Amino acid sequence: MNARLDARPDAEHLLQHVWGYPAFRGMQRDVVDHVAAGGDALVLMPTGGGKSLCYQIPALLRAGIGVVVSPLIALMQDQVAALEELGVRAAFLNSTLDAATVQDVQQRARRGELDLLYMAPERLLSESGLRLLGQCRIALFAIDEAHCVSQWGHDFRPEYGQLAVLRERWPEVPRIALTATADVPTRQEIAERLLRDGRAFVSSFDRPNIRYRVVEKRDGRAQLLNFIRTEHAGDCGVVYCLSRNTVEEVAAMLAGHGIRALPYHAGLPAAQRASHLRRFLDEDGVVMVATIAFGMGIDKPDVRFVAHLDMPRSIEGYFQETGRAGRDGLPAQAWMAYGLSDVVQQRRLIELSEADDAYKRLSSSKLDAMLALAEAADCRRVRLLGYFDEASGPCGNCDNCLNPPELVDATESAQKLLSCIYRCRQTSGTSFAATHIIDVLRGKRSEKVERHNHHALSTFGIGADLSEQDWRQLLRQLAAQHLVEVDPAHFNVLHLTESSREVLRGARRIHLKRQEPAAAGKRRASSTPRPVAQALAADDLALFEALRAWRSGVAREHGVPAYVVLP
Ligand code: ADP
Ligand code: MG
Ligand code: ZN
Repeated sequence: MNARLDARPDAEHLLQHVWGYPAFRGMQRDVVDHVAAGGDALVLMPTGGGKSLCYQIPALLRAGIGVVVSPLIALMQDQVAALEELGVRAAFLNSTLDAATVQDVQQRARRGELDLLYMAPERLLSESGLRLLGQCRIALFAIDEAHCVSQWGHDFRPEYGQLAVLRERWPEVPRIALTATADVPTRQEIAERLLRDGRAFVSSFDRPNIRYRVVEKRDGRAQLLNFIRTEHAGDCGVVYCLSRNTVEEVAAMLAGHGIRALPYHAGLPAAQRASHLRRFLDEDGVVMVATIAFGMGIDKPDVRFVAHLDMPRSIEGYFQETGRAGRDGLPAQAWMAYGLSDVVQQRRLIELSEADDAYKRLSSSKLDAMLALAEAADCRRVRLLGYFDEASGPCGNCDNCLNPPELVDATESAQKLLSCIYRCRQTSGTSFAATHIIDVLRGKRSEKVERHNHHALSTFGIGADLSEQDWRQLLRQLAAQHLVEVDPAHFNVLHLTESSREVLRGARRIHLKRQEPAAAGKRRASSTPRPVAQALAADDLALFEALRAWRSGVAREHGVPAYVVLP
């Protein structure tokens, strides 16, 4: 781009003549002007929003090299190749290069023969990295995927925290931090750590072409297979799973059914990971089955669906992962199978983590927000955008908008369920898991029911009006709202919580979702109050009040866990 000094091209000119795009999108123009004039900026745009141009064009407009910090070694090469194709002088420095290439890149940088230099953060922060930059003229620093600076975030990279050094060493060089995921506290953290009086550019996070869907998980893998076969045969997609094992099993299962599925997780050999990534990017219709190790920054426009077999642990994670679908603007789907196991598993992960209490509290409030999104009976997009502080109206393109669930007041059923948990525990002196409690409610005389003499309980058979599936849905909702505790350390047994009382007292209403259209003749028994349950609830309420009195005296001194049922 030697011509640029003489011709003084402006931003528009570069956009049209180097990139070949007719116009800037959204906030791009404002960001470019601000950074080109030497200002710091925080840029929040959804994945696919066009963040790269926000630093690439100012780098060309300003004298010197634009230094781009990116945690994504795998993608630097792609980005640099794309830039070179446009005639932009770009290079990268990361651990994949041999010594001779590194030398060559360094030399070009020193001589000012580069417009853009991509660096992995650890490379930049190394002694030689900082020395090199000290010898170069720098146009700007761009910090891509800037949310990695956040200790609370799911992509935390310790090196990112050290990037504050850029501000100290090069106070006169503008910095631009970019990310697709940042709730309000993360935005503050990025600004505090990386910028100085930076201006924030926040564009809409709406991805209107993505249809959000959450289905009740029964047999997740079979549901996934069915989803792909019936709605996305031959399409490119990504399937996210929590564990490496699941990734491999699901990839094998899909492949066994003729789908071009490949596994991807951090435990695979680097060469295999790279080859799967290449195939995903180059071939048509590849379905990548992956852990969250896959995808940050993936720029493949025609991903038609992103499926979650396990729920992500935060809305940021969900938003970023689903955001990889439909970057070309064409219709795409975000599909998630969600069940009680997700609630239990994610809570368990927080509990077992070695993080401090503040972190656990934060993780658990993020998880609660994610659970509320998964349980929502109203527009998912409104909730999703609301989480990022963006107001919107019902979208008409999510499952709940397209097929509004019929809500049935199930408070009384919830009272039966809680009472039954309580009764079983009271008679047997031990707690029971969901299957057993549901058997008792539905009046099923299983071997276990008989062994514990639970068919003699007053709660035996009082819930025959609901299917097992309904009971599970109810239980899942209660667990998601901390109204029941599932103890994964002890065979997933159920405990009442301090807040269970609110339900028993009727102070908190619970609703069941019915996805079938209201007209279908198969509607189950109505939820007209049944005296037996009312009596039970009142009865248990008294016990709860006694428990509370006891608890307030004893619990504080002895640190009794919230789910202890009776003295
Ligand atoms: P992000 O980093 O925000 O996820 P990218 O910078 O990778 O997004 O851009 C996403 C896609 O949009 C790329 O294919 C890019 O070339 C394209 N793009 C960006 N800005 C424009 C524009 N002004 N006009 C047309 N296409 C654009
Ligand atoms: Mg990007
Ligand atoms: Zn909607």
